[in-house]
Amino acid sequence: MSRIGIIGGSGLYKIEGIKNVKEVQVRTPFGAPSGKLVTGNLEGKEVVFMPRHDVGHRISPSHINYRANIYAMKKLGVERIISMTACGSLKEELKPLDFVAVDQFVDRTNYARDMSFFTEGIVAHIEFAHPVCEELRSIIYGAGKSLNLTIHNGGTYINMEGPAFSTLAESNLYRGWGMDVIGMTNFAEAKLAREAEICYVTLAAVTDYDCWHPQHESVTIDMIIRNLHKNVENAKRLLSVAIKNIEPRRSCACKDALKYAILTDRKLIPAKLKKDLNIIIGKYIR
Ligand SMILES: [Zn+2]
Repeated sequence: MSRIGIIGGSGLYKIEGIKNVKEVQVRTPFGAPSGKLVTGNLEGKEVVFMPRHDVGHRISPSHINYRANIYAMKKLGVERIISMTACGSLKEELKPLDFVAVDQFVDRTNYARDMSFFTEGIVAHIEFAHPVCEELRSIIYGAGKSLNLTIHNGGTYINMEGPAFSTLAESNLYRGWGMDVIGMTNFAEAKLAREAEICYVTLAAVTDYDCWHPQHESVTIDMIIRNLHKNVENAKRLLSVAIKNIEPRRSCACKDALKYAILTDRKLIPAKLKKDLNIIIGKYIR
């Protein structure tokens, strides 16, 4: 069964309107995912929902088990993931309450997190020039437009380690690099999803300007929380339209991402590893 995965970010811990809700505890060879996953039916499609920080926002960006989360999605038959994220804006024209249909990433984490299924005993190099599924991205962009939301068509998301926000010097550096929005979580998800041949797209919702902006000093936590809630409300509406518009079959390249990527001599891959990674590599390696 092919399902659509939804990952909720800060402020998004539940989606109303999912029918036939089941909470599922998924076991993975990489440990436990962020929490129970919710399966059900939304807009006539089978979906799986997971809040990446867990309900109650208890897991910090550096400590999220990204591998377990994406593996769990794969195990439940997810072929496409729409990932929601709150972000800071690095450009004047990307205003609080705007959405960005992100198309590029830059990684600035310190690798405290595991970002690959292929770390020991098997080597795979996926193509990652275009880290987001264009098919899915055009669907979320179109959904935003149809609702008259302000959504920007493309943008680069710089993934910092966190959990502290940037210094002013860092914020200005990222602006100098031409980055558009900043967050702490989506790069690892995008990479792992590609390795798992899952389509992935980031819907970034701007909560505030990062500290480079002259207005930043006057921004209160209250305002940020208000923006966060407003963004979540809009994101849910956008999601409903996007899910309705997703075709049952994929015609993008994401589904074959591993086809030529695994370089390790098949005879040398340990049996246990083959078993653990079967849902990801089983198509190519038995
Ligand atoms: Zn795709």
